Amino acid sequence: MIVLLLGSGGREHALAAALARSSALTKLIAAPGNPGVAEHAELRDVAVDDIDGVVALAKAETVDLVVVGPEVPLVLGVVDRLAEAGIRAFGPTAAAARLEGSKAFTKELCAAHDLPTAGFRHAKSLDEARAALGAFGAPVVVKADGLAAGKGVTVATTIEEAHAAVEAIFADAGAEAVIEEFMTGEEASLFALCDGETALLFGDAQDHKRAYDGDEGPNTGGMGAYSPAPVLTPEIAERAMAEIVRPTIAAMKAAGTPFTGFLYAGLMIEGGAPRLVEYNVRFGDPEAQVVLPRLKDDLLELLLAAVDGRLEDKAPAFSPDAALTVVMAAKGYPGAYAKGSEIRGLPQAQAREGVTVFHAGTARDGERLLANGGRVLAVTATGADVREAQARAYAAVDMIDWPEGFCRRDIGWRAVARLEE
Ligand code: AMP
Repeated sequence: MIVLLLGSGGREHALAAALARSSALTKLIAAPGNPGVAEHAELRDVAVDDIDGVVALAKAETVDLVVVGPEVPLVLGVVDRLAEAGIRAFGPTAAAARLEGSKAFTKELCAAHDLPTAGFRHAKSLDEARAALGAFGAPVVVKADGLAAGKGVTVATTIEEAHAAVEAIFADAGAEAVIEEFMTGEEASLFALCDGETALLFGDAQDHKRAYDGDEGPNTGGMGAYSPAPVLTPEIAERAMAEIVRPTIAAMKAAGTPFTGFLYAGLMIEGGAPRLVEYNVRFGDPEAQVVLPRLKDDLLELLLAAVDGRLEDKAPAFSPDAALTVVMAAKGYPGAYAKGSEIRGLPQAQAREGVTVFHAGTARDGERLLANGGRVLAVTATGADVREAQARAYAAVDMIDWPEGFCRRDIGWRAVARLEE
């Protein structure tokens, strides 16, 4: 099988490494990919949001399956366009991708089907938003509707902050907002592999969104993660599947917009009960870098079964080992940062037991490896438990010589503390 993988981050390197293990794979092509993806795939210089370019590439290369990593091409309808061209693709259609593309769509679906989530109001004007804030009081959560790469959310502790957030949203013409009740509890991410009708549990993880140790500093795309998530016991994970994910898949099918792909449920867990924070319609980054190394089954076979609606008799199996990843970012990230500094020591880090270094924002210059983005590497290790995975990951981090980079030193602290309880 010839497979085309779309994307260029650490998630796509992890997907490429897992696809490369499949016996059915004859050729892996990636667009645009990165130097880590290139260890497993031939790269083509097509951007993920160039939908015409992607369709043309898939046709020219007689691709059997397209695997879509990031959300942007999904929301733009790449799967629909490929289907029109007779090419199979793993991922949701644009209509199904609204589960991530529109927070209001998801909240209204939850309300219509009585799924556990925070109470909310969908505000279409500044006046409606102000009225909603009056009803909820502080703390309260204010979200811009539409894709905002995690940047459109304000968790406001005071009502003044909440008013400032809605004013910023409605400064843009045509803006809409979702005002939500603030939920307390512990967050975790659950992944489901879906074929439009069946949803199978596909691992879980917890991530660290803040830039600095102690979960402080600005929000980022994710500074590290680990899998499994200790807070998501098998019982709670099954409850989330039964009470949230499966009813969502049934509702999407009944609406004539069945969901195929990875459904990522951000959950808030309190008192053993899961509630939905948000959906994403693709794998997480850096969560893919800790879930996929634990997958025991053939990923390509599972993705094909999803695309063909044959998941009913499958049960993806994961290693009981823990995996933990530490993201190394360019100094300054998530603000301004420089590109082009040299990274040394990767082969030595990679050679350590249980370690894989996934590339996120790197570039090659001959033999030299250069930083080429904000999040640059995801240093992943597996171990018998999260403490061992953490020790191995940081031992590998310490072998990487990159003075222009930084990482958090406390990834996994909550899970390690739980082991010590
Ligand atoms: P979202 O993009 O919807 O996942 O929101 C980003 C982050 O904001 C989440 O990961 C949570 O930490 C936080 N958040 C969002 N909605 C709520 C809520 N209703 N209650 C508490 N925290 C929330």
